[in-house]
Amino acid sequence: MSDFILCSNCFQDQGLKIDAEVIGQNDESACLNCNESTGQKLDKGNLLTLSQRFFVWGSLQRFDYGAAPLVQFNYQQTTSIKTSPWLEPDLRILEKAIGIGFFHYGPRFWMFGDIEPLKELQEIDTRASIINRVIDEYPTITFTPENTFYRVRMAPLNPREFQEYDSPPKHISGSGRFDSKELSVMYGSQDLQVCIHECRVSAADDLFVATLAPCYDLKLLDLTELIYEDVSEFESLDMSIHMLFLAGEHSYKISQDIALAAKASGYDGIIYPSYFSLLRTGAMPFETVYGISPRQIPQLADREKSKIIPNLALFGRPIEQEQIEVKCINRVILNRVEYGIHFGPVEF
Ligand SMILES: [Zn+2]
Repeated sequence: MSDFILCSNCFQDQGLKIDAEVIGQNDESACLNCNESTGQKLDKGNLLTLSQRFFVWGSLQRFDYGAAPLVQFNYQQTTSIKTSPWLEPDLRILEKAIGIGFFHYGPRFWMFGDIEPLKELQEIDTRASIINRVIDEYPTITFTPENTFYRVRMAPLNPREFQEYDSPPKHISGSGRFDSKELSVMYGSQDLQVCIHECRVSAADDLFVATLAPCYDLKLLDLTELIYEDVSEFESLDMSIHMLFLAGEHSYKISQDIALAAKASGYDGIIYPSYFSLLRTGAMPFETVYGISPRQIPQLADREKSKIIPNLALFGRPIEQEQIEVKCINRVILNRVEYGIHFGPVEF
């Protein structure tokens, strides 16, 4: 006997219905609630997943640093959110079916970046001391000639020329995450999808990819690693760096200063989490377990690390300096673009 409680046809809100179709299971029995047999069936576990995805993840609000869901649910509370007329009946069906209540969530302050090291990074006076900690506390990795990676260029003047895939010359650098007027940086990734996405390409663009590899062992600062500290999220350097790389252009001055300090400490470059990591892996940003970041829970470290796609930032002009060799150049043809989507409420 199945334990199906509802089906996707029980819902009126189109987004919730589509999410329910994705989460639900194929079964031809008649739904106990709506009596239709064509919908995807949902058991209690499926309904909890649906509630989490639609109402919690679907109400996620981003801040300058960090993000937090504005709706939560549990078994203790009764529903206190008010939503759109087309969603209201679905909300009632859902809460009755599994005995949960939806309510406004007051995020813990660290979720929107109220973290000491992150605040100190934003202040000119205290930035250097935190950057020194970053250089000291994050691991060094050796990037060997076996590690190939990619660099994508949009409409280069001479696609066959190796120098087209080097860092842009100094006079036109200075506006990226790590490159500044003082330092040229070559960006690349071992994940071709991320490379292409980071170029913000469209299907009409003329695209080329170079396959590259180090000529000899390079020393890189690894900022994708989770570091353990015996402190709360409010004092966490790990959480500060995690948020820094999921923040937009307003954070670039900080990462540019990290690059300059790493160069001065003898590093050839930095491995850092791609801004598009979460889009590529489909993970929810700044997920929490009972209000605690799973980054703080050692048993969940592997799962957290798997949400991160590493990117490379190499200092100087490494092709010209013969640190990086061009193995191959190809034209890239985009033949399909597909977005992974799910939905959320428009008011609550
Ligand atoms: Zn139904």
